[in-house]
Amino acid sequence: MTHEIAVIPGDGIGQEVTPAAVEVLEALDVDFDFVEGDAGDAVKAETGEALPQATRKMAADADATLFGAAGETAADVILPLREVVGSFANVRPAVSYPGLDAVQPDTDIVFVRENTEGVYSGIEDEITEGVRTLTRVVTEEASRDIAEFGFDYAKQNGFDDVTIAHKANVMRETDGLFLETAEAVAEERGADYDTALMDALAMHLVMHPEDYGVVICPNLAGDMLSDLAAGLVGGLGLLPSANVGEENALFEPVHGSAPDIAGQGVANPSAMILSAAMLLDHLGYDDEGDRVRAAVEGVLDEGPRTPDLGGDASTDEVTSAVLDRL
Ligand code: ATP
Ligand code: MG
Repeated sequence: MTHEIAVIPGDGIGQEVTPAAVEVLEALDVDFDFVEGDAGDAVKAETGEALPQATRKMAADADATLFGAAGETAADVILPLREVVGSFANVRPAVSYPGLDAVQPDTDIVFVRENTEGVYSGIEDEITEGVRTLTRVVTEEASRDIAEFGFDYAKQNGFDDVTIAHKANVMRETDGLFLETAEAVAEERGADYDTALMDALAMHLVMHPEDYGVVICPNLAGDMLSDLAAGLVGGLGLLPSANVGEENALFEPVHGSAPDIAGQGVANPSAMILSAAMLLDHLGYDDEGDRVRAAVEGVLDEGPRTPDLGGDASTDEVTSAVLDRL
């Protein structure tokens, strides 16, 4: 069976790390048909559109999408793309690797982030000069979807600890509904869980990440807490993510286009290659996904390493080392 994969490198280091992930997928004994699409600042400058219709269609028709990064136009690209693939869950594992000098070496947390609403509703207004508002949307349906996904994910992947992050003491209506709905899902399943106020959780994550497994989060909280966790395990160059829908899915690193290092050939390809490993899991190639993770883990442990991890290797050198291990 051939799987059609839409590949959208985008801007900045997306152009450098996406080919690395494609090379890794090509090295496996799985039939892929790659189709490449444009998105981001560069194509907007050329055509006026950050996400051309052709790219949209490519992602909609493919079995899965690999996306690199977009710069200034990120919101115009990734929010619609997540919609195109019908994604409601953003899965962001933050794992510490042996051999890396991480702030917290015992981190193994998966953030399951609601991906369709909250403050990302896009409903912003200027009600009068100098006063602007944002409407935070929380629905029972999306809250139920993300909670069910989170508890299923924990069960399928052997996590004992599930934490529901919220700020229902302040956002009583919106996060009240999120919390109440997620707790109802847990009760229905007879699943154990904890709840945590997201601010206190940020502190506890820094001090005791080992206490957490799956963390189910509203949209913005999931974005911020997963970046925080990236810092605990060695930086943004390491964190992959999956945007999962009912039928389709899109895989992307947590990092952005990193304009400060773009074009130098030194971006860490690990986050992108680990995103490809999540794509393999998603398509049912769990063994291949594990092989890719083991290869990346081996390289992180023994080198070569890119400058963000204290080394002086290039993106290509790290990618070759991963391919050698495969
Ligand atoms: P964007 O607006 O596209 O998100 P940004 O300026 O926020 O751009 P990020 O990509 O989010 O940049 O990166 C934040 C920091 O982390 C930058 O200093 C960047 O160099 C570093 N970084 C991110 N990804 C990587 C990577 N894959 N390898 C090395 N460093 C990285
Ligand atoms: Mg960024």
